[in-house]
Amino acid sequence: MTHVPVLVREVVSYLKLRSPGVYLDATVGCGGHAKSVLEAHPESCIICMDVDSDALGMASINLSDYKKRVKFFNKSYTAVREVLSESGIDKVSGVIADFGVSSIQLDEAARGFSFKSEAPLDMRMDKRTFLTARDVVNTLSEEELADIFYIYAQEKFSRRIARRIVDIRKKKMINSTKELSDIVVSCYPQRMRHNLHPATKVFQSLRICVNRELENIEKFIEVVPSILEKNARVVVISYHSGEDRLVKQKFREGRSDGYYSIITKKPIEPSDDEKNNNPRSRSAKLRCAEKIV
Ligand code: SAH
Repeated sequence: MTHVPVLVREVVSYLKLRSPGVYLDATVGCGGHAKSVLEAHPESCIICMDVDSDALGMASINLSDYKKRVKFFNKSYTAVREVLSESGIDKVSGVIADFGVSSIQLDEAARGFSFKSEAPLDMRMDKRTFLTARDVVNTLSEEELADIFYIYAQEKFSRRIARRIVDIRKKKMINSTKELSDIVVSCYPQRMRHNLHPATKVFQSLRICVNRELENIEKFIEVVPSILEKNARVVVISYHSGEDRLVKQKFREGRSDGYYSIITKKPIEPSDDEKNNNPRSRSAKLRCAEKIV
């Protein structure tokens, strides 16, 4: 399955593209958003970053028609300043950041992001890092695990799941997605096992923890104003309340400090049609700010 980009028309229109310009896609994934920018503006270039080398491989295939206008960096968006200075660029005409996980990552069973297939508990987006979901599940204390499940995903049964994990791992390490998913399911009352898969939130929270997603997003969002030209915009898509809260706060700080105008008073959400056609878009929230100084 390929990755269908979320809110793609909205991303292009909120960016208010100016041609020729140099744009930044901080999370290029399979290149869906980057491609729409390149298509909309035949004279613009885009710098594409991703920590996942598989994603970059996919993006370079999907963007092969635009080779001359694209540069790829297998780096975290937290290193955006270094990446820009390596390219001899001080500021960009617009920034896209589409957080969360790509369908390619979810579908590749061996990456361990999905509870739908049997795989080692990995969940690293950047394979050069060391901490895996298996380490987190087998070494953190009961309280720490419960906090991760609750704080990063508002898991209702966080304490019960953490207690069961700790009980089970006294006898044997928890190694696979299936083992963890079964544990979570067993903590859910029968009547609640039917809607959202019970393991959804636990898996989401572990992914956020393993990839330090909130810390990274915070660092990145703080740097963004310093890399935007005057009148350039940043468009961010978040997928859960923790991310969206951070973005909202940072935009507000920027407004009270006088360098941002907030373009989206309320976050933009996909239409019902888009939500039905692309399940990944269901929790998406797009926010946009413009640098005014
Ligand atoms: N907009 C993309 C999809 C992005 S999915 C498209 O249209 O195809 C989110 C991507 O963010 C994933 O590929 C993931 O590897 C990447 N990512 C996660 N953390 C990152 C980080 N710290 N720096 C750069 N990319 C990151």
